[in-house]
Amino acid sequence: MPKRLDVRGEVCLSVSGFRELNRRRAAAGLALFANPRNAAAGSLRQLDSTITAARPLQFFAYGVGDASSLAIGTQTELLAMLAATGFQIIPHSRVCLDLAAVIAHFHFLADSRHELPFEIDGMVLKVNDLAQQKRLGAKARSPRWAVAAKFAAAQAVTRLIGVDFQVGRTGAVTPVGRLEPVKVGGVTVSRATLHNEDEIRRKDLRLGDMVLIQRAGEVIPEIIKPVVKKRQGNETAIKLPTKCPACAMPLVRKAGEVVRAVRRCENPHCAAQRLQALGHFCGKAGLDIKGLGQKVVEQLVQNALVNDIPDIYRLQPQQLAALAGWGEKSAKNVIAAIAAAKHPKLARLLAALGIRHVGEVHAQLLAQHFPSLTHLQQAGEEDFLKIDGLGPAVASSLVTFFSSAATSKMLIALRDLGLRISPDDDRGQDRPLHGQVFLFTGTLSHFSRDEAKARIKELGGQVATTISRKVTHLVCGQKPGAKLAKAQEMAIIILEEADLRTILAS
Ligand SMILES: [Zn+2]
Repeated sequence: MPKRLDVRGEVCLSVSGFRELNRRRAAAGLALFANPRNAAAGSLRQLDSTITAARPLQFFAYGVGDASSLAIGTQTELLAMLAATGFQIIPHSRVCLDLAAVIAHFHFLADSRHELPFEIDGMVLKVNDLAQQKRLGAKARSPRWAVAAKFAAAQAVTRLIGVDFQVGRTGAVTPVGRLEPVKVGGVTVSRATLHNEDEIRRKDLRLGDMVLIQRAGEVIPEIIKPVVKKRQGNETAIKLPTKCPACAMPLVRKAGEVVRAVRRCENPHCAAQRLQALGHFCGKAGLDIKGLGQKVVEQLVQNALVNDIPDIYRLQPQQLAALAGWGEKSAKNVIAAIAAAKHPKLARLLAALGIRHVGEVHAQLLAQHFPSLTHLQQAGEEDFLKIDGLGPAVASSLVTFFSSAATSKMLIALRDLGLRISPDDDRGQDRPLHGQVFLFTGTLSHFSRDEAKARIKELGGQVATTISRKVTHLVCGQKPGAKLAKAQEMAIIILEEADLRTILAS
């Protein structure tokens, strides 16, 4: 390998990664991304790299800046070298010997692209010989040795036969269009998202309309527009609900939401919300309890076995085994998975509880700053606002959640059922004093030992009470004790109070 290599490629979000990301965003009450491409681009544009890091991005290498120092002569060899070096490369590239082969491969990819784990909108043709690439050179903005060939978008026209209004975990009500089944891009589609009611109005959609739908690898396709010239005059306006379709409580529409134009059911006892919340708790964004997917959770709720989160930990194997479609073995497995979910890390549990606006990233931040649930229950809005990355909406939502009687009751029940937070070894990994252990001897003059200790812990360091191999720094005040000689013997770094102040200040 040369000393320096400039590897080029594409950052990409797989369809499953995209769904997962949107599920997490929905759980946190955030606006959803329209497609994986936007989501990937948006992820890279983040100023806060921890947000980027939390997104399931992939990188596919396809080239290098300057290949002249490499002992290779073709694009194919370049890809092989990148793969051998450990980069992911797109596995679908082919060497085509003539244009007919190129066209055949184009059709092959166009037909099979929906089976790929990521979305593609076309392919890039490249001259394989690097010497020829060099001779061909580049125009102002693009090389002459590479050209993109795009597929046609997967669209279809069908009839909108109804609109369902679904209640999400945070009470947001979203419209979903029911369609006459139609094939789009290789799959039969009978439902399409309408995003929100403003979309319905903006597109002037009516029941009975023929609509143009487009599928771009999303969970459900979207309705682009009505085909107005196909209207027969018997189309009717879409009625927007004023009451929750699940619990019949009046819906509230507030301005200034992250998601615009959202009607919400604010009934804390709404059955639909509770079902979604339970599914979220057991699901991948929550404690990831194997065997307790949304469908199973629905079955448990319908059979009155589970009503709230603590009920999950009260399930007995014989209750499950008696349900339709269950056996002793599957019941046992799920009970074991539930028992295994009794020791979550704090961040996991916080994300699982489904506190409004609190997604995985916020949960991580909170776990880094608060050692326990008790600390979170005692914190006020100002304590949350001190954390870089937590805004007022999150802070107020946290206070509302932790100060509610229902929350305390639930947390007490969970504790009584054996739920314990497991210590998080990763905690504070990115903080400046992570992995460093401080020990004190002698008297400090500028601040108290407790203040110094608190500050060290805040920066991710640890404080020891006795000398051991684990100690990395001895802070030496006035009139040091026997620890000093011991530390010198063990070659531990010795700090004076002024050194410590410098470290803590920087
Ligand atoms: Zn409701």
